[in-house]
Amino acid sequence: MRYSKFFLPTHREVPSEAEIISHQLMLRAGLIRKLTSGIYNYLPAGLRSIRKVEKIVREEMNRAGAIELLMPAVQPAELWQESGRWEYYGRELLRFKDRHNHDACLGPTHEEVITDLVRKEIHSYKQLPINLYQIQTKFRDEIRPRFGMMRCREFIMKDAYSFDADEKGAEKSYELMYEAYNNIFRRCGLEFRAVEADTGSIGGSFSHEFMVLAKTGEDQIINCSKCDYAANLEKAEVKWEPSEPDTSGDDKMEPIEKVETPNIKTVEEVTAFLSISPEQLVKTLIFRSNGDVIAALVRGDHEINEIKLKNLLGTEQVELADSELVTEITGAPMGFAGPSGLKLKIVADHAVKEMKNFVTGGNKQDLHLRNVNMERDFQVDLFGDLRTITPSDACPRCGNGISFGRGIEVGHIFKLGTKYSETMDALFLDQQGAEKPIIMGCYGIGVGRTVAAAIEQNHDDEGIIFPIPIAPFEVVILPLQMHETEVLEAAEKIYEELSEEGLDVLIDDRDMRAGIKFKDADLIGTPIRVTLGTRNLKTGQVEMKIRAESESLLIPLQDASRVIKEKVKELYDSIK
Ligand code: ATP
Ligand code: MG
Repeated sequence: MRYSKFFLPTHREVPSEAEIISHQLMLRAGLIRKLTSGIYNYLPAGLRSIRKVEKIVREEMNRAGAIELLMPAVQPAELWQESGRWEYYGRELLRFKDRHNHDACLGPTHEEVITDLVRKEIHSYKQLPINLYQIQTKFRDEIRPRFGMMRCREFIMKDAYSFDADEKGAEKSYELMYEAYNNIFRRCGLEFRAVEADTGSIGGSFSHEFMVLAKTGEDQIINCSKCDYAANLEKAEVKWEPSEPDTSGDDKMEPIEKVETPNIKTVEEVTAFLSISPEQLVKTLIFRSNGDVIAALVRGDHEINEIKLKNLLGTEQVELADSELVTEITGAPMGFAGPSGLKLKIVADHAVKEMKNFVTGGNKQDLHLRNVNMERDFQVDLFGDLRTITPSDACPRCGNGISFGRGIEVGHIFKLGTKYSETMDALFLDQQGAEKPIIMGCYGIGVGRTVAAAIEQNHDDEGIIFPIPIAPFEVVILPLQMHETEVLEAAEKIYEELSEEGLDVLIDDRDMRAGIKFKDADLIGTPIRVTLGTRNLKTGQVEMKIRAESESLLIPLQDASRVIKEKVKELYDSIK
């Protein structure tokens, strides 16, 4: 590609609208342009990256036996009403009416459409298993579109759906996708981790998120230092084992005591005021859950995990009570709730089970209670793992230490079970002639988000450092003096030879200062830069520089194409 004939508008200044580096660089390097909130044009260089990710995705999906199709972006409301999601999906679903007043939506995902297709065409175990996928534009009316391609409203997703006759088959389909996803992100040249993710009401450990590791990632993830356990922070289990019963007699129940705590509400305030540690306090949080109100208890130094709470209660949603509800339920303003005397279902984290003579709110303004004890002063209806893991906790699998990191979710694989096939009657006849719901799985990859995540992970002060498999160009050639025939001819020759070999080469043939060409080459992040100038050509040499390395080297002009080609191969090989 010739820069002079291409459309690659770059900018020096950092756009004020862009908060994170990948967004800034994608705008500055001429990869994307915003149309309106969360909706972008993919400029030619950005599109080249997108297409490269798509190609890797296709190859690995096909290799795993999945079959490509293409479903419509517009979906009729009827299907969503049938699955129950028309009500449930909320405002992320962009709904509209057509000229016949029929309700429709722009697809944020395609479970309904694919289930409808499959129920009409697949009736026998002989047609199973099957995995169908597409690479298609999704629309989600995100509440806060931000970070450019990371969280937009219109974006390209690869979504796949597997259909199996039995549980064993479904597990196999899931494993195939797990492997394919590992291959895809590895081949994109990314440092990533598959982490266990929340499965919501479906349960089991059959959901993994693929996280590109980056300090600025939205998601917190934990890793075991020894075994391969890794999980999303919201999902990470906390290992709990009952400690040895205390036989010293030090743990006998003391009489409950009321303490005036004027305007003292938070854990920090209460523990400082009473000179106790947070481990001696129980936090009482009031939640709404499916029309009910419940209280959840965690130790003072622990944080409640709402996803775990939701799963323990087996509900779709929990919502922390507002101050009005807290006052109505406890008779006190926020900050003074305690379990004793509450006429609610009470659930508690395992760690609370072991506590004796602890402090809680007194359900009265400016009052706390000391020496509160379970059984004697209140009853817990249900214990469970309700808190978020902390750096001092052990790995739930092997008991070794864990570390915290951040990641960007680029892919998500999920075992759906029969959730959609049952509600939408996607049934098949098994070998014995019995009618059964098909077992499903769904698997998504954010194509644009993958490119953005790659940039978030690979950049420096000068610009993007693209991993070669997804770089818009593999090699950029910079002839420095455009009016020197010798420079131009040598540059053109290398350009032609490499292009003929099938490499993606950009030649910066603009009549511009060398400084500008260097700056743009660094900004765009092409992995290999080849510079031709009068000074080096005098000694028959050209300069080759790897974007990710600081040193450059001189190579003989006559060997240049061969050496560059070998370098390209070497960069690819370092990824496999
Ligand atoms: P998130 O938690 O980030 O909103 P999600 O759980 O809603 O993601 P899925 O429904 O699993 O995402 O979608 C599959 C993939 O699509 C995600 O892993 C992500 O890479 C991508 N994706 C989801 N929402 C967006 C978005 N608003 N912009 C860009 N990519 C997205
Ligand atoms: Mg989302």
